[in-house]
Amino acid sequence: MASVQLDGISRRFGKSAATAKRAFDGIENISFTVPDGQFWVLVGPSGCGKSTILRTIAGLETATSGNLYIGKTLVNQVPARQRDVAMVFQNYALYPHMSVAENIAFGLTMRQVDAKTIQERVETVAHMLDIAHLVDRKPRQLSGGQQQRVALGRAIARQPQVFLLDEPLSNLDAQLRDGTRAELKLLHQRVGITTIYVTHDQVEAMTLADQIVVIDRGTIQQIGAPQTIYDRPVNRMVATFLGNPPMNVLPVTFTGAGFQLGEQSIPLPPRLKPQYAPGARFDLGIRPESIQVSREAGQLRAEVRVVEPLGREVLVRVVLPGEPQGFQPSLNVQIRPQLNLQVRDQIFLTLDLEQMFLFDPATGTRIY
Ligand code: ATP
Repeated sequence: MASVQLDGISRRFGKSAATAKRAFDGIENISFTVPDGQFWVLVGPSGCGKSTILRTIAGLETATSGNLYIGKTLVNQVPARQRDVAMVFQNYALYPHMSVAENIAFGLTMRQVDAKTIQERVETVAHMLDIAHLVDRKPRQLSGGQQQRVALGRAIARQPQVFLLDEPLSNLDAQLRDGTRAELKLLHQRVGITTIYVTHDQVEAMTLADQIVVIDRGTIQQIGAPQTIYDRPVNRMVATFLGNPPMNVLPVTFTGAGFQLGEQSIPLPPRLKPQYAPGARFDLGIRPESIQVSREAGQLRAEVRVVEPLGREVLVRVVLPGEPQGFQPSLNVQIRPQLNLQVRDQIFLTLDLEQMFLFDPATGTRIY
């Protein structure tokens, strides 16, 4: 096992007609160190550069600048197959003509490990992943979830220093994905191999990670423990990316005594010491679970527009009165089914002011 250190890694791709208008293309000045044995998750929207970072660590992509260390070794010039990392892709990439056992053994066979060791490792790994009964089958005779386990098994059997997993669960259906995610976590607890995991799924990021690295447009936005990133996001991008349903973001104007939102106002949070001029504009962030709903009274009047029962809770989209034909703020709230709200019901909202965020509308930086 080993730590993985990225020190100012950039990878720029040549501009094409399709990407010429973008401010970035590739990854820019990426630095972080995954300590030995930890499970880190790289998360961010499609095209933000997650896979490029992983492929650079694997040696499948060459950094334009920066240094990469695996353990204490500088590996910039070390070819992929000598880096002692195992990568699992979302499309499994199993060898169709080989049996499950041969697929799992592949990395060991290539390294000319002796037959007895190979057999023992294949048996151990197949048991660990609950595919021991499938070892004689070919990949086409397996379900997606089983194929995914074989791909993981092939990576584990090699006993690499580092695991790199690129959206390994994205081809599985929802139920299987939940189950496999939990198994992955157990597996990591058991084998403890340094793991870097790429996903755009924020649930996977929150549940699996020791530390999350949030990436947007090729740069790191924030690194932290899942709960820290959720509770104290550094900017609007991070705040809205993590959380399901996502945080509401509403444009507001500072009045001195509070914030104007449409034609209503919200009081100041007690801890906020405003140094802003009245008329200053902000983006106010509030998570759906930080909003109380009542039929009788509250800070804001609202009208129910969409009701989506989710079982234990109901997701409700509401609009606030705004200028006629003009901007009408809308937001998501999460409520108990007992309230039995219907479309067009007139209700009241109370925001938990302690859980409110303020962002600079121009830069997105969180200022409260
Ligand atoms: P996804 O979640 O959709 O897989 P990602 O976050 O993994 O996305 P990358 O695949 O790392 O994103 O791509 C990052 C950026 O670099 C994108 O804008 C992509 O178009 C560009 N890119 C990636 N590989 C190449 C390449 N070989 N040539 C040119 N541009 C590339």
